[in-house]
Amino acid sequence: MILCDEAVLTGLTERHLVLNAQGVKLHADVAEPFMALCAAARRDGIAISVASSFRSFERQAYIWQAKFNGKKPVFDHDGQRVPIEQLAGRAKLEAILLYSALPGASRHHWGTDLDLYDAAAVTESYQLQLTGQEYGPTGPFYGLATWLAQHARQFGFFLPYQHYQGGVAAEPWHLSYQPVAAQYLAQFSPELLRNCLIQHPIAGQSVVLQYLDSLYSRYISNICEVV
Ligand SMILES: [Zn+2]
Repeated sequence: MILCDEAVLTGLTERHLVLNAQGVKLHADVAEPFMALCAAARRDGIAISVASSFRSFERQAYIWQAKFNGKKPVFDHDGQRVPIEQLAGRAKLEAILLYSALPGASRHHWGTDLDLYDAAAVTESYQLQLTGQEYGPTGPFYGLATWLAQHARQFGFFLPYQHYQGGVAAEPWHLSYQPVAAQYLAQFSPELLRNCLIQHPIAGQSVVLQYLDSLYSRYISNICEVV
């Protein structure tokens, strides 16, 4: 029986999480398969490192607000900075949602999803940016990206943002543990998210609530399925 309720789904609790040997916060059912995946990658010369794992509602709300207010840069598909102060309404939300989830609706709340890089492919002083270029054919993490695309499934993982499908940008670094995440997504809904946001208002609240159903189908349920 997998622990799941509204607080787990929306990042308002940590009781579904454990700390693994590397000090990474993960869903209790993900720590072991993730260790197996890392060991197999290591044998192929890839040092899987975690840029981000669990993120709370509060942390996601901080990121969201900073992007909404122009205090954190917002980028487009090509890595160009978006003039966020010139946008309003739904267009402003969509600019942010390309790379940042709505608070309450990040897969990182679940402890099943991680952003990864290969520490063996760069120097210690390397400044990780999480851009398509870094994970593309000319970037340092192309080996990791192709390894994950080939092997992640053997360990129960998949890449929900492997390709751009009109919602979240391609994020070849974002890995998800399918057996738990699929159950969580199945239990998630626009109504559940709406209730969460009404209780925990975020920047742009009225526009978010106005378009919530269509944002949900474009950015939350719209993932690359396991093939
Ligand atoms: Zn991610």
